[in-house]
Amino acid sequence: MSEQFFWWTDEQREIDTKVRAFVDKHFEEAEEYFWSTKFPWPLVKKVADEGYFGAGVPKEYGGLELGATGSCIVAEQLGRLYAVGHVFTVSMLAGLEQILRFGTEEQKQKWLPKIAKGDELGALCITEPFAGSDAANVFTSAMKDGDEWVINGKKRYITGAGVSNRYFIYAKTSDDPSTRKQYGHITSFIVEKGTPGFSLERVNPLIGFDNVPNGYLDFDHVRIPDENRIGAVGKGWNVMMAGLNFERLIGAAVFGGVFEDITSLLYHYTRRRVQFNRPTISFPGIQNEIADIITKSKLARLFSYYTAKMLDDGKEPMIEASISKMINTEFAREAGIKAIQILGGDGLTKFLPVERVVRESKIGEIAAGTTEIQKMIIFRFSSMLPLYNRTIRIRWNNDVNAPIISKRESEFKGMDLNEDNVLKVIAHDYKVNPGIYMTPDEVREDIGGSRSEIKNIIEKLEAKNLVVTNKDKNGKLTLVKASYDGLQKAFPKEYYQWFPNWYEEADKF
Ligand SMILES: Cc1cc2nc3c(=O)[nH]c(=O)nc-3n(C[C@H](O)[C@H](O)[C@H](O)COP(=O)(O)OP(=O)(O)OC[C@H]3O[C@@H](n4cnc5c(N)ncnc54)[C@H](O)[C@@H]3O)c2cc1C
Repeated sequence: MSEQFFWWTDEQREIDTKVRAFVDKHFEEAEEYFWSTKFPWPLVKKVADEGYFGAGVPKEYGGLELGATGSCIVAEQLGRLYAVGHVFTVSMLAGLEQILRFGTEEQKQKWLPKIAKGDELGALCITEPFAGSDAANVFTSAMKDGDEWVINGKKRYITGAGVSNRYFIYAKTSDDPSTRKQYGHITSFIVEKGTPGFSLERVNPLIGFDNVPNGYLDFDHVRIPDENRIGAVGKGWNVMMAGLNFERLIGAAVFGGVFEDITSLLYHYTRRRVQFNRPTISFPGIQNEIADIITKSKLARLFSYYTAKMLDDGKEPMIEASISKMINTEFAREAGIKAIQILGGDGLTKFLPVERVVRESKIGEIAAGTTEIQKMIIFRFSSMLPLYNRTIRIRWNNDVNAPIISKRESEFKGMDLNEDNVLKVIAHDYKVNPGIYMTPDEVREDIGGSRSEIKNIIEKLEAKNLVVTNKDKNGKLTLVKASYDGLQKAFPKEYYQWFPNWYEEADKF
């Protein structure tokens, strides 16, 4: 039994126990659909009858109101049924968070009970033939015509294409370059199957998601009413981002139960597989690998539920959702590869549900934003956090004769603001941080004066080749260092020298 975290509510614990029992009961049935490569409609219907599609839907709209945490719990267990897990997650993702946060009351009344019931499935449509990682660059257009919108374009790689009834799409509603720059050119809509002009173009043969269709959609002058627009015109990017945190989290959680199944299979198998007269579980190499799988699966699960708690507490866990999606899919792929190695040839056959983990986790590393894109998000958003933007000043400490991180004021503070003293500040920085530039603000912090005074002096020093500057693409001064001439002018060369105590005097020159 997987760990029920201490912050889960009683209802969340209860659903975990229930959905786990449901999965155990229907495991064999799911395997039958896998082997016959049939979409598991009857099983999906059973999931719907249990009300699991409503895990994240508030009770007033017919759901179980178990939040992001409850949705993860259900996804984690249903993920053990492979196709069913993917269908569940995509259907939930196709609008739940977006409608909850951006829908009008009427829209909530109309769509949320449908999501909760699960009697018709949903698909999420961001990707297009010419817009993948660059999701803002959608070509599918929506033009207003009276009270209707006319949609034209194509979407691709859509999970649940064809079998779904409800398609949550993002289309461009403006070509104005300045609107585009502000990400104000996208709007989100729901298009229903059966709308004239809306058709399935192609179904992809994939390396994984064996019995879940994934395909291309064609929108040929598809007319939908304005009431199918979710969120304000031009706010589709915000809708997409809000949906994506949830999507990435659920896309991570769906692998949580798979780790557990792999691990129990490995214990079972290696206790019974004998080579060199010993069960293979007795080999330290195999024990190490199983320990590694357990360690990573625990870390990945813990991080998913931490992210879910943040979402449930009303936070925007952009970085955490990306980390969660990245590590769950990466660790699942690693676990699958390790498990195959431990199982030997048996691991490579389809008779054990392990090779499937490798194929599906590889898809996980690409769908809902590739690992590279998750890293980009983690890097970019973290670079804005105060946590990582602390001012670090390194000062020369005469007592120990070494540069150390310090809160002390600069020894140049209060000196006359002139070219000679500013050059001294910049040259002194070479002694303290020999390989890096200073920002103009750091120069100012060290000697005083206004930004414009410092800038003017640096420009004059640059004109005399005493400093070297670095500018951004708009020509704004960003960094400065002393030139070789500047270092010589500011201080005698002995000023920059430093030798450890043990260094022989005779060896200095
Ligand atoms: C099985 C499956 C199911 C899917 N389901 C859905 C779905 O239901 N709905 C939906 O809308 N989409 C879906 N997708 C699409 C998925 O989200 C995209 O495939 C994904 O975002 C990557 O886009 P792309 O395939 O066009 O690759 P590209 O964007 O062309 O990327 C190719 C490579 O370039 C790298 N790259 C791109 N930009 C950068 C950058 N700036 N820095 C560094 N590296 C970069 C990528 O990381 C990748 O390695 C699904 C995809 C698959 C395979």
